Amino acid sequence: MDSRTVGILGGGQLGRMIVEAASRLNVKTIILDAPNSPAKQINALTQHVDGSFSNPSDIEEIASKCDVLTVEIEHVDVPTLKKLQKTHPKLEIYPSPEAIELIQDKFTQKEHLIKNEIDVAESVAIESPSVESLAQVGDKFGYPYMLKSRTLAYDGRGNFVVKSKDSIPQALETLNNRPLYAEKWAPFTKELAVMIVRSIDGKVFSYPVVETIHRENICHLCFAPARVPDSIQLKAKLLAENAIKSFPGCGIFGVEMFYLENGQLLINEIAPRPHNSGHYTIDACVTSQFEAHVRAILGLPLPRNFSSLSTSNTNAIMLNVLGDKEKNKELQTCERALQTPGASVYLYGKESRPQRKMGHINIIGSSMEHCERQLRYISGESDELPS
Ligand code: ATP
Ligand code: MG
Ligand code: MG
Repeated sequence: MDSRTVGILGGGQLGRMIVEAASRLNVKTIILDAPNSPAKQINALTQHVDGSFSNPSDIEEIASKCDVLTVEIEHVDVPTLKKLQKTHPKLEIYPSPEAIELIQDKFTQKEHLIKNEIDVAESVAIESPSVESLAQVGDKFGYPYMLKSRTLAYDGRGNFVVKSKDSIPQALETLNNRPLYAEKWAPFTKELAVMIVRSIDGKVFSYPVVETIHRENICHLCFAPARVPDSIQLKAKLLAENAIKSFPGCGIFGVEMFYLENGQLLINEIAPRPHNSGHYTIDACVTSQFEAHVRAILGLPLPRNFSSLSTSNTNAIMLNVLGDKEKNKELQTCERALQTPGASVYLYGKESRPQRKMGHINIIGSSMEHCERQLRYISGESDELPS
């Protein structure tokens, strides 16, 4: 379909699913990550690079072997990408290094969104973390508030809920030596997310608005479409599209939002890559988020409706499969899913560790009630195998 080779910084599960989608279009991919990472396991024929997406010389090596460079993670070395724009003018880098740079520091990301009149939770940079400075934040925002690492955060590792003045010393100890900012507590009733595709000519397309449920800061479930009124879905879609229009470059972006008790929507954060809340698209939509990303960064066609649900009554639930305390016990959930009509299992080829993202299960049905019944069986809440 395209003779160019796509290099991917990062070979985790998102890279693995990009590789799968690219393979179906005969698009070659090479990966930069540790040996035997999930994306390399299913793509053994090309010359991958063993190393790290934060190491400049490893990034330069993969850049010399590909035509288009993309990422499955935002924590990459941006100065090297900017240097490559000058030294390798033929190399295309999507998402653009400028967008990754704005996004990878969550406080800079907030400032950028505010500048573009996008609603976000109120926040403040913590220049010199101390009991006094964090108590001042408590006076300003009230308690609880959220203390966050500006960089290298994922799955809530980098967040600390400051419940009261007394918890400030523990917050300082937990996030010791990290660049910090504080965020006002968002009293949300639901968390929503939207995957947005930006094409090479700057058009934005949105996937359906979904609802995510987190457990201990890790995405647990995703309901598509979100169980909120149509008017809120429309508002969320427009907010997400406007946010993504403010970034340069193309590719897929995940937009996380808070739906507040007072009806307001705030953006929590943006990911410049495929996102956990978009995994349902593999089975529920005409084109998956991974294929859409490949098509966007290669400038391949993205026709009308590619991002819509397969049929007007398609409903989906995605369940993340996290590593159990007892090694590999999570596979029991996958076995139950294999017995369930309408469910598909995706495993990432990782060694089982507690709370690690090991895979996900997509459940598709003609109504949300139907999907919820399948979910109850899969999660072991009910032993009645649904039809
Ligand atoms: P990931 O990148 O894996 O989505 P992360 O480590 O970047 O996670 P956030 O998205 O900032 O972390 O926060 C994780 C979760 O913590 C959110 O999905 C939400 O449930 C909760 N949370 C974050 N910020 C706030 C806030 N200001 N008020 C209330 N809850 C919050
Ligand atoms: Mg994040
Ligand atoms: Mg998040």
